[in-house]
Amino acid sequence: LREDALLCYTSHMPDFAAPVERLIDALKHLPGIGQKTAQRLAFHLLRASPEEALALSDAIRDAKEKIRECSTCHNITDSDPCLYCVGPTRNHKTICVVEEAHNILAIEKTRMYSGMYHVLGGALSPLQGRGPEQLKIKSHRRRRGDRRVPLKVAEAARRARFADWRRHSGRRGPGIRG
Ligand SMILES: [Zn+2]
Repeated sequence: LREDALLCYTSHMPDFAAPVERLIDALKHLPGIGQKTAQRLAFHLLRASPEEALALSDAIRDAKEKIRECSTCHNITDSDPCLYCVGPTRNHKTICVVEEAHNILAIEKTRMYSGMYHVLGGALSPLQGRGPEQLKIKSHRRRRGDRRVPLKVAEAARRARFADWRRHSGRRGPGIRG
């Protein structure tokens, strides 16, 4: 075999066995995980006992099967409506609009708020193709019965980006006021 032919052949060999490649690939899809971290995690899981490694896959499966979106506020929950929407001590006249479900935890930790929540499911992000249609704004309108949506969590920068998105896409979208 010629030396260059050998080089050509080895450069197309996969680095790892197919199941390991698949595991690394799946881990790489997680936010903040690059190729090197994915490899480190994959080899950690391969070194771990079957019980330990499979406990992780069981936890993922369990969460995916049991956790859903609250049909009222879009919080993630194992009971619909969620505990905030049915809580007897919660103030049903106030709705706090948050970007993501995990923002609720931070607010709850302050113990200063006992109203309702509404999870938008992200922020306006024209670069990622997320306009008003992708956010849970319509259902918030329905809950309030308002024509306009007060997005108290929206920041000036996001408004600027939204205005930019609207200008470039030529779409009007719903009115947003703080
Ligand atoms: Zn809810």
